[in-house]
Amino acid sequence: MKGHFVLNRAHLSYWLRQLRKDADLIGPLRSTDGDIIFSSIENIHDIELDCPASIPSPKEFIFPQKEEMFRFSDKGVSSKSNGERRVIFGVRSCDISAIALLDRFYGELYEDSFYMDRRRNTVFISIACNTPDPTCFCIGLGTGPFLKSGFDIQLTDLGNRYLVQAGSGEGLKIIRRFRHLFQKPEKTDFDDQYEAMLSSQSGFEKRITLETVRQKIITAKVEDSFWESVALRCFQCGGCVYECPLCTCFNVVDWKEDKDKGVRMRLWDTCMFKGFTKMAGNVLPAEKQIMRTKRWYFHKLLYYPEQFGKFGCVGCGRCTITCPGRIDMAAVANKLD
Ligand code: SF4
Ligand code: SF4
Repeated sequence: MKGHFVLNRAHLSYWLRQLRKDADLIGPLRSTDGDIIFSSIENIHDIELDCPASIPSPKEFIFPQKEEMFRFSDKGVSSKSNGERRVIFGVRSCDISAIALLDRFYGELYEDSFYMDRRRNTVFISIACNTPDPTCFCIGLGTGPFLKSGFDIQLTDLGNRYLVQAGSGEGLKIIRRFRHLFQKPEKTDFDDQYEAMLSSQSGFEKRITLETVRQKIITAKVEDSFWESVALRCFQCGGCVYECPLCTCFNVVDWKEDKDKGVRMRLWDTCMFKGFTKMAGNVLPAEKQIMRTKRWYFHKLLYYPEQFGKFGCVGCGRCTITCPGRIDMAAVANKLD
């Protein structure tokens, strides 16, 4: 099949080492605290592929938690380029689905140059998930565990080899540059991929569809007492928003370094904070926590589908892992389904 290849497992590190020669290679590593984080790869053998979801998601490499927009002084304004070339390896299917939606959010109505400059210089190599985490529910949303499109390159681990699928021109280019490493797939490779997909699909503990929840909200079958009970358990830590691969809230601040120079920064923000929509005159449009909790869920379950035809959730399970109040998308959906 066109765009499909086989890579011998023994050739993976050589391929990644070659890619690292002209790009920053980023992948999942285990931190000294034992967490899985995406970071620049110094040693290919440190890459962790058989591991739980990273916290935070790889979103931070195209929409950083804090970024310098430009510097200003009495002499004028200057900005640095975000054009560093990057290959991000080992990304999960749900995170690829999230990035496809972020591309539309930051690129369709109004092009956000900070996001798009990074995005255009980043290639994502994803790995289809053979073993979902207990908190994953992408299967009910069509955002994983195996993808048909949206990736630059998708690998399926078939034991001694990978089935490699090119999903974009950029992906195909970096396979073709090292054509000698890749072979033509046989029927047995596709059969094994199909088996891996079936096995993965049967491994999901959570099977949640959000459509029933959306319909219930639209038809006003969810009373405020329900949202009140959810909001009561919220500690307003913002963890759900910061860790979600699809949350896009940010704030812009000017940081004065001196009396005549400074820097304008963009920082992640969260709609769970009371001051997020604070207006002149100290007006707080969402003063009560229930208003902010409803807004987060409504945004993901109603407004995203209205604007993009897709939910603002890819079922990665990070809010489940993160929330100290044990409230999250899966729990809410379970209660309302
Ligand atoms: S992670 Fe939980 S406690 Fe923290 S803001 Fe989100 S809902 Fe509230
Ligand atoms: S709402 Fe929760 S499960 Fe859904 S994408 Fe965001 S962090 Fe993942």
